Amino acid sequence: MMSPYRHAAAERYGAEAIVGKVVMHMCDNPSCCNPEHLALGTTWDNAQDRTVKGRGYNGHSKRRNEADRWFRDQVMARMREAQSGSQV
Ligand SMILES: [Zn+2]
Repeated sequence: MMSPYRHAAAERYGAEAIVGKVVMHMCDNPSCCNPEHLALGTTWDNAQDRTVKGRGYNGHSKRRNEADRWFRDQVMARMREAQSGSQV
C-alpha cells in the first residue's frame, strides 16, 4: 500500500519515476498530499535534508526557516531542471 503522498507523487511524476526515490515534502508536512508540494529525491537528498534540518532545528524554532529556504532552493532548482526537459 502506497502512502497517500507517494500516490500523489506517482500521479504527478509517473509511477516509474518515483521507484527508488524518496518523496520529499517541500512544505515539511508529512501528511500533505498536495502534488505541488512534493519533490522527488534520492535517499542521499533525504539524508542531506535531515542533516540540514537536524542542525539547529528542533521542530518549530525560527532556524527552521533558514533550513527550509535552503532546502526549497535546492528542490526548486531540481524541479526546474526536471521541467526544462533534462529527462530524455
Ligand atoms: Zn504541502
